[in-house]
Amino acid sequence: MTLYSTDITQNIHHLQSQIPPHVNVVAVSKFQSVEKIRMAYEAGHKDFGENYVQELLSKQPLLPQDIQWHFIGHLQTNKVKYIAPFIHLIHSVDSMKLLHEINKQAEKHHRVIHCLLQIHIASESTKFGLTFDEALQILNHNELPHFQNITIYGLMGMATYTNDTEQIRKEFLSLKNFFDELFAHISLPNVKMHILSMGMSNDYQIAIQCGSNMIRIGTMIFGERKKN
Ligand SMILES: *Cc1c(COP(=O)(O)O)cnc(C)c1O
Repeated sequence: MTLYSTDITQNIHHLQSQIPPHVNVVAVSKFQSVEKIRMAYEAGHKDFGENYVQELLSKQPLLPQDIQWHFIGHLQTNKVKYIAPFIHLIHSVDSMKLLHEINKQAEKHHRVIHCLLQIHIASESTKFGLTFDEALQILNHNELPHFQNITIYGLMGMATYTNDTEQIRKEFLSLKNFFDELFAHISLPNVKMHILSMGMSNDYQIAIQCGSNMIRIGTMIFGERKKN
């Protein structure tokens, strides 16, 4: 187990100094206190990621309103309405039904909500996400062009939790190849293949080498999480 510094400001500056400037960092704050999030905010960080709707709703009103909140956990259709007023980017879209609901709720709030399709690239069966074929079905769906209150901005994926760096690399590269194919071939007004969200504390360096431009970092910024 790696030991991380307890100095959040130092952790953020250290991380930023290690990565190229085109890579955006989402600070994953699940199970972390409002005080710790505020410390990261005061260090200049504006992008935070949460996995659970209830937890996000309890923290969001207590924190600065210019924070850009990312939703990175499994999202149930019946909870979209709670985050629709303010969510900045939903990384975890994994069905047409969910996309339909996000579009509907975004319309109520006169917003366009930015989304990523979550792709299942890990060998573990427990991780959520679409197969490449399922993602193509969504992107080719004849209703998608009518969703005027969402924009699909790219893809998200999680590699297998393993020490086998070659396996992790293979999984990330498969997602990068798919991303490049979509970038080259999909031409729809509400699809812009700009963001490739992959890489966490244990594998972000490999992810960046494989073409990630958005990494989701929890432990390396905030320290170990209290398990719920
Ligand atoms: C928890 C989580 C992270 C951050 O994990 P760390 O290993 O703490 O960096 C990133 N992405 C998703 C989807 C997560 O659930």
